[in-house]
Amino acid sequence: MKTALGTVAFISLGCPKNLIDSETMLGQIAAEGFVVTPDYESADVVVVNTCGFLDASRKESLEHINRMVALKEQGGVKRVIVAGCMVGNYRPMLDESAPGADALVSVNDRVKLVDVLRELSVSGELARSVAISDPDARGTVYDDRARLRITPRHYAYLRISEGCDHKCSFCTIPSIRGRFRSKPRAQIIEEANELARDGAKELIIVAQDSTYYGLDSEGRKSLHELLAELAKVNGIDWIRLMYAYPTQVTDELIALLAHEPKLLGYIDMPLQHIATPVLARMRRGSTRDTTMRLIEKLRTRVPGLTLRSTFIVGFPGETDAQFEELLEFIRAGHIDRAGAFPFSDEDRAASFTLDGKLPEDVITQRHRAFMEVAREDLFRRNEALVGTNIEVITEGDSQDPKYPTEARSRADAPEIDCTVRLKTKVAPGTILPVRVVRSMGYDLLAEPAR
Ligand code: SF4
Repeated sequence: MKTALGTVAFISLGCPKNLIDSETMLGQIAAEGFVVTPDYESADVVVVNTCGFLDASRKESLEHINRMVALKEQGGVKRVIVAGCMVGNYRPMLDESAPGADALVSVNDRVKLVDVLRELSVSGELARSVAISDPDARGTVYDDRARLRITPRHYAYLRISEGCDHKCSFCTIPSIRGRFRSKPRAQIIEEANELARDGAKELIIVAQDSTYYGLDSEGRKSLHELLAELAKVNGIDWIRLMYAYPTQVTDELIALLAHEPKLLGYIDMPLQHIATPVLARMRRGSTRDTTMRLIEKLRTRVPGLTLRSTFIVGFPGETDAQFEELLEFIRAGHIDRAGAFPFSDEDRAASFTLDGKLPEDVITQRHRAFMEVAREDLFRRNEALVGTNIEVITEGDSQDPKYPTEARSRADAPEIDCTVRLKTKVAPGTILPVRVVRSMGYDLLAEPAR
């Protein structure tokens, strides 16, 4: 279907926060009267919402942009607009490596995308190379209501704050997304109600640091109160907490994790490392001791807790012994879901000036060794679930005719954790108990529990 305003397709890259940006921009575009199409090969305009976090993600963003520009040169797409995290900090790279883009709209100016599209649709022309990147916009608290959702209907990401005040030496996000700012609580609750009315049963709480919530706006950490209010939202059955910062986890939050039935016993808490000297060079503010004490408190007070975490391997100065200490920490089973990134030497991060940088092949080798240990640990855990009952939410059809339904357990976040395949066909968004009959390593096979 076409309107005078034209059709718009979106390519959304990066983290769940960028996905929410895409959904919010899509909602604004549709409200403006543009037709949103999944078919970017024939769309009038393609928007590539970029990720600028790591060298690898910038390369991926450039690949997508240039593929769309090639389509434009073949007469398919009329215009290519670049949005997202690359625009603010990597304009010269975009100008040099993606000169064919028609407009650049920075992540903090995402509400202005509609203006660019309207100008395009009215005049058919765009002042060559529009670039919107207002530094003051870095302080804006955004409204993510009225989204056009990309995720399956039954789960939704809910952003509770923007930006970050931490100073992790390897990270450029504060320079991209600005200082930490909490969303007003009432706005979050209204957004959650809107998502529930739109069919969401699972809310996945995201931020750069979700545990910092309220410190700026209410003068104290109040995530536990916000989560308790979200648990009262009709239609929401599961609340999953992502991006907790280890030094910001409060006793009140732990108590809520233990007692609030809708708050899943699941916490994603990036630790980045376990060796104290490495944590110090990362400027994480935590040590091995503080981390171990926190994990012990979580394990003791929240029975059946699933602890997910991510790590960086090959950080400048990481010795063989410190890397072995990290592997031992994973082998010891302190983390239920573990992932790792190879250190990326970002020239805009403080870590760029550190000494003791490791050769690329050593970093790659350590990343491989870490993923191997994490995989063995996860396979051991999944094997131990055979014969037990777990609760799952169904996602939709699987590729396996014998186990036609794909699902996720309370211990699995979308896209990054394990899946469960069910022996029977069940509609998406159904929460039910199942019995695990077999482990396939990362995936589990299950049947409805009698
Ligand atoms: S907490 Fe650290 S790693 Fe995470 S966004 Fe903030 S500065 Fe970056």
